[in-house]
Amino acid sequence: MLLHDERAQLVDYCHRMQADDLTVGTSGNLSVRSGQHIAITPSGVPYEDLTPESICVIDLDGNKVDSDLEPSSEVPMHTSVYRATDAAAVVHTHPLYCTALSVLLDEVPPVHYMIALLGGPVRVAPYARFGSPELAENSVRAMEGRYGALMQNHGATTYGDSLAKAYSRSVYLEWVCRLYHQARLLGEPNLLPREEIDGVAAVLGGYGQTVPAR
Ligand code: 13P
Ligand code: ZN
Repeated sequence: MLLHDERAQLVDYCHRMQADDLTVGTSGNLSVRSGQHIAITPSGVPYEDLTPESICVIDLDGNKVDSDLEPSSEVPMHTSVYRATDAAAVVHTHPLYCTALSVLLDEVPPVHYMIALLGGPVRVAPYARFGSPELAENSVRAMEGRYGALMQNHGATTYGDSLAKAYSRSVYLEWVCRLYHQARLLGEPNLLPREEIDGVAAVLGGYGQTVPAR
């Protein structure tokens, strides 16, 4: 089966995404790139029903390559991110706190240095209908110099050079949005200066280690 390992990895991360409460129902979609091919979740399938065989394989133009089911409606966004960046994986979710801030703000306020894992203060891409080329375009523009963006009145998208990296950025982004929400309930949060976020972003480039296989 084409991209068997990538398809199996996507199923695993879809289950994590549910367990981590990063999305609701069948919303959200994940993909992994390998060369000229992209493995991507099918549209509207309950995550608990997914198998490696049910994951779709498309090319960088969004054409089906090996796909029994209809690929995600957000193919234009995933392919646009792969074309515009060096991403090897893209994670799109509808997490509660990211989505809440996306209806209120133009940018996630820098309340915690961990936002630097996303490359800096994360922007909110202007609203466009789900699955549209406009949403893809707005999202990629909002991601310039960042590893992700919020999408106004919709959700969040992150990318990385591995699915693990792209996914963990979604987890951190949701946590920072939640932190801002919690702090804002108690008062006006102090924000970190832009230079500090830039400085931390430069240091965090090398943050994280992989446990060697034995
Ligand atoms: P799909 O089920 O088509 O992937 O769409 C979910 C979604 O989040 C659309 O923005
Ligand atoms: Zn969505």
